[in-house]
Amino acid sequence: MNNYFDVTLGVGLYFCPKTIALARILYELENVGSVRESCGEAHLVSPEGRILDAQAQMRRALQEPRMRKPNLNRIVAMLRTLTPSQLTAVSAEVVALEAQSGATAVIEGRFAAGAFCPHCHCQRVRRHGQANGLQRYRCHECLRTFNALSGTPLSGLHKREKWTGQAAALQDGRTLRTVARDLGVHVGTAHRWRHRFLALPQALQPVALAGIAEADETMFLLSFKGQRTLPRKARKRGGKAAKRGLSHEQVPVLVARDRSGVTAECMLSATDAMTMAAALKPFVPVDVVLCTDGSSALAAAARALGVEHHAVNLSAGVRVDGAWHVQNVNAYHSRLKTWVRKFNGVATRYLENYLGWFRTLDRESSNSLKPAQWLALAMGRGA
Ligand SMILES: [Zn+2]
Repeated sequence: MNNYFDVTLGVGLYFCPKTIALARILYELENVGSVRESCGEAHLVSPEGRILDAQAQMRRALQEPRMRKPNLNRIVAMLRTLTPSQLTAVSAEVVALEAQSGATAVIEGRFAAGAFCPHCHCQRVRRHGQANGLQRYRCHECLRTFNALSGTPLSGLHKREKWTGQAAALQDGRTLRTVARDLGVHVGTAHRWRHRFLALPQALQPVALAGIAEADETMFLLSFKGQRTLPRKARKRGGKAAKRGLSHEQVPVLVARDRSGVTAECMLSATDAMTMAAALKPFVPVDVVLCTDGSSALAAAARALGVEHHAVNLSAGVRVDGAWHVQNVNAYHSRLKTWVRKFNGVATRYLENYLGWFRTLDRESSNSLKPAQWLALAMGRGA
C-alpha cells in the first residue's frame, strides 16, 4: 500500500498527511501527474508541467538533501565560535559522514548475490523495513530479523560512520593511540575495532603452497600485555627473553612460503616434529619441495608429510645451495618483526590477529588495499 509514495519520488519524500492524501489520489488516477513543491506549497502538476491544484504547506522529511538557508547560516555562525580543536573534531565528523555511505554500500554488498538468514541459513527471507540505515530482513523459517552485519564480527559495533577510517588505519598499520586520536574515539574502542576487524582476515590462510616452499620458525615473546593479572613478573615492554632459543618465555610461529610468495603461518604449541607436521599439513601437498634451515624437527616433519626435502646447512655457513635456500621466508620474518616492533610488543592472545594483519598487507603489498576492501575482508569477503 506504500505505492503512492512513488509519485513523489521526483522531489523527495514529504511527510505532510495532506500531501500523502494528494499522492494517493494521483496514484488512483493512474499517475496522471506528479506532486511538486513551489514556494513551500505542494502542487498537483500535470504531465505537461501545468499546475492543476495547490495543497497545504509541506513539511519536508529529514532526509531531504538541501537544507533551508536560515538553518545553514545558523550552523555556519556557530562554527565560527568553535575552538580549533573543536573544529578539527567537526571536520572529522563531516568526513566520517561522507564515508558512511561508502561503508554502507560495502556492508549491504554481503547480500548482493541473495540474502540468507545468518541464524538458520535459510534463503527464504524477505525485506523487512530499514533499521539503523541498513536493510532489515526477516527469515521465513525461524522468523528472526537480521541485516547484512548480523553474524559477522562487526555486528554490534557502533559509529559505523567511522569504520572507513578504521579500515584505512589497518592499511597504514597505525597504532591504537593514533587511531583513537584520528577517529575521535576512545583507545578501548580502537582496540575493540582493530581485533573485530581482524578476526576474519587472520583466519584467511592460503589453500595450498606450490612448487618449492621454504619453512622456518621464528619466535615471539610471550606477552600478557593488557591483562590485569600477570601470571609472571612484569617485563619492560618490548623487552628481551632471558634465554635465547625456545623457552617458556617465547611463542614459536611457523612460516611457510612458496617461491610465488604464497604464505601460510601459524602459532605453535611446541616445536617438535609432529606438531610442525600437523601445522604444515593443510598447506603442503605431497608434490611440494620443502626447503628448511636444517633443523632436525623440520626435517622429521617433512618426512612425516612425505615431501621432498632439502636442508641448507646454515651452521656450516652454507646459505644458498643452488635453488635450495630459506632466504624468502627469512626475509618475510624480518619484514614481519620490523612491522610488529612499532606496536611495542603484542599480546600473545592477539598474536594471530597481528600475523593475519601483516600477512594480508604483505600479500597485497603491490596494490595497497582500499578501506572498502579491508571492510569487505573484515566481513569475510575477499579483498
Ligand atoms: Zn532463519
